[in-house]
Amino acid sequence: MPSSSDSVKVAVRVRPFNQREKNAGSKCVLSMNGSTTVITNPENNDKKTFSFDHSYWSHDSSREDENGVFVPDSSNSNYADQRRVFSDLGQGVLDNAWQGYNAALFAYGQTGAGKSYSMIGYGPNKGIVPITCEELFKAIEDNQDKTKQLQVSFSMLEIYNEQVRDLLVKTKPQAGGLKIRQNPQTGFYVEGLKQVPVRDYNEIEKLMEQGTVNRTTASTNMNATSSRSHMVITIRFAQVFKNADGQSNTRSSDINLVDLAGSERADSTGATGDRLKEGSAINQSLSTLGNVISALADLAMGKKKVLVPYRDSVLTKLLQSALGGNSRTIMIAALSPADINYDETLSTLRYADRAKKIQNKAVVNES
Ligand code: ADP
Ligand code: MG
Repeated sequence: MPSSSDSVKVAVRVRPFNQREKNAGSKCVLSMNGSTTVITNPENNDKKTFSFDHSYWSHDSSREDENGVFVPDSSNSNYADQRRVFSDLGQGVLDNAWQGYNAALFAYGQTGAGKSYSMIGYGPNKGIVPITCEELFKAIEDNQDKTKQLQVSFSMLEIYNEQVRDLLVKTKPQAGGLKIRQNPQTGFYVEGLKQVPVRDYNEIEKLMEQGTVNRTTASTNMNATSSRSHMVITIRFAQVFKNADGQSNTRSSDINLVDLAGSERADSTGATGDRLKEGSAINQSLSTLGNVISALADLAMGKKKVLVPYRDSVLTKLLQSALGGNSRTIMIAALSPADINYDETLSTLRYADRAKKIQNKAVVNES
């Protein structure tokens, strides 16, 4: 069965200044050229250079057309609109899915840096998840034939305080959340999670809307913001081939799309008491993700006897295959351009730099 060893692909993407930063006269600490991203310490002008698979710029003067869609600024070759991000990253996810490889896409970064914009998007500026789903169904339309059946299903969950909640279910979450179980063959999964069969893009769009509303209501009820929870969308794509002898075989791919909680530390947001407890529990998934990434990077650098702490958090249990396992994985690190966010932005760049060392072992899923 075909397999391949591939490193995690990493893209960094800087958002434009927001109005508040413009009003405050914020300085830009980032510059990009080709695959290179340079960050300058606003206090001493110390520069650090990083290299990634993609470095995406959003020009400060990004303009909108009459439909509210951002107009690309062609003066900067690193400029990337949502379409470019899709064609660089999402298209590959789709090609992999047809070949039977699992894929995962993570968005990492501090709150407000552009994770949800990149993943889901806002209004007419659709993000990589909706564009990828739309393109998947276009390709399915073009690939209809009698020898195979194409199936797509969709699930959407949230991890908050180390508890799992089904975002496609309206009812109040059960105390303690959904249970995580382990299948000796396929690994960890969420018991009772709704996996909804979908026939076209509109159905996915509706589910995604419903899930997004549920995520926001839940966070309002819990007196928190969605920036403290992790959202995981899983698209399962299966091709069932019918052979002449009446037998069939299935090629399948799980696509995991993850909008992570904000990476800023609880102490930097001034949280105390209950909020801090929430913060640290959320950090349990996020900091375990960091530890898993560091351990995998060490392994890839040849270090021996490294324990990868997948079992230390819900997030890393559920996404074990995406991290060093059977998946082709991409990380988008979202960056703020502003000098006041220098520390967080540098820490995001370092995180992304570790992630690119991870080696995965993708295998075609065929049975
Ligand atoms: P996060 O999910 O990381 O908290 P958001 O994705 O909600 O952050 O982004 C914060 C704000 O910045 C939003 O208003 C969003 O529209 C805007 N934004 C983020 N990234 C971009 C981008 N690449 N181009 C234009 N606007 C962006
Ligand atoms: Mg967000």
